Amino acid sequence: MGTLGNPKNTIEILKKYSFVFQKKFGQNFLIDNHVIEKIIRAADITKDDFVLEIGPGIGTLTQHLCENSGHVLAIEIDRRLIPILEETLSDYDNVTILNEDILKVDIASLVKDYNDNKPVKIVANLPYYITTPIIMDIFEKHIPLSGVTVMIQKEVADRIQAKPGSKDYGALSLAVQYYAKPGIIANVPPNCFMPRPKVGSAVINLIPYKNPPYHVENEKLLFSLIRASFNQRRKTLVNGIFNYEGLDFNKEDIVKVLDDLGIARDIRGEDLSLEQFVAIANHLYVIKYDKFS
Ligand code: SAM
Repeated sequence: MGTLGNPKNTIEILKKYSFVFQKKFGQNFLIDNHVIEKIIRAADITKDDFVLEIGPGIGTLTQHLCENSGHVLAIEIDRRLIPILEETLSDYDNVTILNEDILKVDIASLVKDYNDNKPVKIVANLPYYITTPIIMDIFEKHIPLSGVTVMIQKEVADRIQAKPGSKDYGALSLAVQYYAKPGIIANVPPNCFMPRPKVGSAVINLIPYKNPPYHVENEKLLFSLIRASFNQRRKTLVNGIFNYEGLDFNKEDIVKVLDDLGIARDIRGEDLSLEQFVAIANHLYVIKYDKFS
């Protein structure tokens, strides 16, 4: 069988197994070899790499990952795809297929069991309905990562790499940029997939920081502040924090921290950089810590 990046071959295998696409699993299979090559190149895969692929589908990207990496661990939720994968990947002895839900499986344990806890590369054409939870999960759980190269909705890719003051800037931009350096590699139109998605897509590279760029006293507090300030976008940061359930600061303390840092009292979250959020979180942490010590 030729490459599945050729639509003819994809149609043939889907027909052979009478495969019906499941919308609820976000099944949009790649049918463009140029895009696949771009993903492989961007992920910078070598034979030393262990790749974790989320949602291999019929194995289109997986075949190329097997060709270029040391080992591929592919996690697919749809059990009807497993026999298809067994056929399309039968030429490779460096692939493991697991029929699991990526949101329920313990990724840290998989990395421990299959790769001795050494860093893995995540490469995937992600199911779009769970893009954000997957990305947040791998970072928040501190999975050992040497790179993340994923196809996602263009709109989400724009939000991830947005800078303060832009309309796309928000909690997702800050959370991802805290852990990794994002860069959009390519925009991918709907006609590169079968069936065609309703929205445009993009391949994004997230290069995890070896050491976090900022010293944070308490990550949980930082992320609560970020959530608080984007929960109510039109509110000032002071009101956002003050009104947020789960954060217990009085307005005077918040205003004092802003004054100490030389930040305007009526600032909104959308205009604050990650560095400023970190500074505010660290100052507020000291206030709380002093109170309880
Ligand atoms: N990698 C293939 C490609 O590029 O042609 C398929 C990509 S398709 C956008 C997403 C794949 O993820 C589908 O095969 C779908 O069944 C699978 N999937 C959806 N939800 C999943 C989950 N929770 N865990 C694992 N796989 C999932």
